[in-house]
Amino acid sequence: MAKIISGKEVSAKVKNEVKEKTLELKNKGIEVGLAVVIVGDDPASRVYVNNKKKACEEVGFTSYEYALPAETTEAELLALVDKLNKDDKVNGILVQLPVPKHINETAVINAISPDKDVDAFHPVNVGKIMIGDYAFLPCTPAGVMELIDSTGVEIAGKSCVVIGRSNIVGKPMSMLLLHRSGTVTICHSKTKNLKEICANADILVAAVGRPNFVTGDMVKEGAVVIDVGINRLENGKLCGDVNYEEAEKKAAFITPVPGGVGPMTIAMLMKNTLTAAMIKNNLM
Ligand code: NAD
Repeated sequence: MAKIISGKEVSAKVKNEVKEKTLELKNKGIEVGLAVVIVGDDPASRVYVNNKKKACEEVGFTSYEYALPAETTEAELLALVDKLNKDDKVNGILVQLPVPKHINETAVINAISPDKDVDAFHPVNVGKIMIGDYAFLPCTPAGVMELIDSTGVEIAGKSCVVIGRSNIVGKPMSMLLLHRSGTVTICHSKTKNLKEICANADILVAAVGRPNFVTGDMVKEGAVVIDVGINRLENGKLCGDVNYEEAEKKAAFITPVPGGVGPMTIAMLMKNTLTAAMIKNNLM
């Protein structure tokens, strides 16, 4: 039976470290601020924003919330981003995605100053991740790296398989594993022999968005299995991309859903915001 990797425990550790550093900064007269912008009233986005605000309180940041109506124009949102870019109290800017369809998401991402882009979605930061010279790590993949490291399993030389190639999870995830000298295979909707590829993975990361997609026969004996998926079933329950009951019989380590990758994403967002404040104050 696999050992459970607790995202709750690992994220609490990360947030505690951020909290200690934030207090050190406070003693030097430096406040850390995160601006969270939400456009419209998507219930899932509202939950994410509330969780991010709560995490800010936990670690001692000041959070600035901008809840804009769904009919906000792109020009209005860009004007707010511009204002926040220039605001010294704001170290990190997060625009909760998705934005309403009439707003161009790429234009918004590109408008955020790379120095305050704590989601690491701006092309400058994406490019830096590719080169391996980065200040901000993309939150979900960075959280996954912390979870893998918490197992004590060495990544270098291991066969690492990432299912999914999205810009926010799959692609940066693959890069971070590559930077740690994993032998990385990226699988996607057009991949042939997916089962065989996965069944050879020492480290398997699923970011597909399909409930119970990874079945027991796709898991290598003794593998580390990380489930990024968050899927809402018809009965209202949350479920990952991995068939947990099947996979945990073969894996050495596995993340649960909920309580695995989810809490890590927010913890890493806090870490990035602290990093932004430290860089701005020449402390890094
Ligand atoms: P996405 O829809 O952008 O990407 C899904 C990827 O899965 C695509 O690259 C696609 O090629 C691949 N895919 C789809 N069908 C496939 C198939 N049959 N075989 C192989 N690959 C296939 O999704 P995303 O934004 O990367 O998110 C993936 C999942 O992770 C979602 O469930 C999402 O909710 C979750 N997520 C969780 C967190 C977190 O904090 N835990 C953060 C971001 C996303």
